[in-house]
Amino acid sequence: MASNGSVNPSSMKIPEIKFTKLFINGQFVDAISGKTFETIDPRNGEAVAKVAEGDKEDVDLAVKAARQAFDHGPWPRMSGHARGRIMLKLAELVEQHAEELAALDTIDGGKLYSWGKTLDIPGAASNIRYYAGAADKIHGDTLKMSRDLQGYTLLEPVGVVGHIIPWNFPTNMFFMKVAPSLAVGCTMVVKPAEQTPLSALFYAHLSKLAGIPDGVINVITGFGPTAGAAIASHMDIDKLSFTGSTEVGRLVMQAAATSNLKQVSLELGGKSPVLIFDDADVDVAADLALRGIVYNKGEICVAGSRVFVQEGIHDAVVKKLAEKAKNWVVGDPFDPTVNQGPQVDKKQFDKILSYIEHGKREGANLLCGGNRHGEKGYFIQPTIFTEVEDHMLIAREEIFGPVMSLMKFKTIEEAIARANDTQYGLAAGIVTKNIDIANTVSRSIRAGVIWINCYFAFDLDCPYGGYKMSGFGRDLGMQALYKYTHVKAVVTPIYNSPWL
Ligand code: ADP
Repeated sequence: MASNGSVNPSSMKIPEIKFTKLFINGQFVDAISGKTFETIDPRNGEAVAKVAEGDKEDVDLAVKAARQAFDHGPWPRMSGHARGRIMLKLAELVEQHAEELAALDTIDGGKLYSWGKTLDIPGAASNIRYYAGAADKIHGDTLKMSRDLQGYTLLEPVGVVGHIIPWNFPTNMFFMKVAPSLAVGCTMVVKPAEQTPLSALFYAHLSKLAGIPDGVINVITGFGPTAGAAIASHMDIDKLSFTGSTEVGRLVMQAAATSNLKQVSLELGGKSPVLIFDDADVDVAADLALRGIVYNKGEICVAGSRVFVQEGIHDAVVKKLAEKAKNWVVGDPFDPTVNQGPQVDKKQFDKILSYIEHGKREGANLLCGGNRHGEKGYFIQPTIFTEVEDHMLIAREEIFGPVMSLMKFKTIEEAIARANDTQYGLAAGIVTKNIDIANTVSRSIRAGVIWINCYFAFDLDCPYGGYKMSGFGRDLGMQALYKYTHVKAVVTPIYNSPWL
């Protein structure tokens, strides 16, 4: 689709769909019920493939395989070095299939093919390599005990992990969770989102080719309230790692609490502020703010959806934003000249449009966008509201789409207070050349990552996760390894003390 909404057939590449079944104990199998569900191409709303619909009984089988692989299999017992070597092979295979994998994420999730091929898939391979390198460097501490004792700690794999992942970054999310848990020696059941199951099944296939033993990685495709809920409440899963909405995060935590008290880590929603101060370069600031909300169609938990601009620069930034938004091309995600593809599905598309209508009704000023793009598929125009007030729904709730709420502020203290006035705490952006402002604001914002004069500056070595209702636990970096390990203390007397 070009920016005028017309379809360019030459750009529509649909790869052959090779894997559509559940992956349990190293085999692709049908769901026990025999049920399947359709995965939909958001460019046109048409079905791409029928995928096995896993449910509780299938989760039981997958957990059994993972349990066996953990309790008796080679993966947790082999040296970290040996695990790392197999993971390096997996990274190589992922990279070799970059084009096919990127195409799967495009037809499933509406993601830009060119970015998938050059960023998401190679980034996933780097992620695997990062943790492959860490696999033989996971060790505890020597303790300095206060009595005549010596002691040390061991970091041991937590056991069978349930990974429940969302649809906005099907590849990155898969490996953000799978790679560190593999490195420490865990086994796992992964449930990709129902909107984007295809690349996860391909990764299951590649894991087998790489030599990861059967039962270590199991992939159950299916729906949240059935397959997802069965994972969250399973008595034989030791750890649940969830990324998704705050609403579902609460449900999975409840399920963990009322089953076996499995450990939980949650990476949830956000309503991240971007604060632009008077001394900022207008062009740089407008560029950062626009990309902060339209990147990946706004379908990213750290989207900079609340933009606060200091009064001296406010009007100039608004003018620049309007110009830049006009040049942001919405269309077929296979077309390399396009900046933004369709939203992932009809449900998200409708939800975003309804927030936009809400913003109009609440009296915010619609600077640009505000409608669907084209007549087919789930495309939405980049939308910017100015003169937004903090209490408005569009300024408070996570929209998860290309919709910015822009507000004016006077003082630093005011900006900090308003930026923190949210239930979320995932990320924040600061645009200033003043080091005092940058330092003061970065220490005052309650959020897991602060980007100064940049945005979406993700790095494998940079931990990622939330404060407040954005969740807890950290993905990425060496921190992620601790999510998947227990600390065991081992203590022994140095010599026989009578009081021991
Ligand atoms: P979104 O609202 O953005 O689609 P969700 O939080 O609903 O995000 O989905 C994230 C992941 O959580 C998906 O894999 C989905 O299937 C799963 N999920 C949804 N509902 C439940 C549930 N009740 N229990 C466990 N997992 C769920």
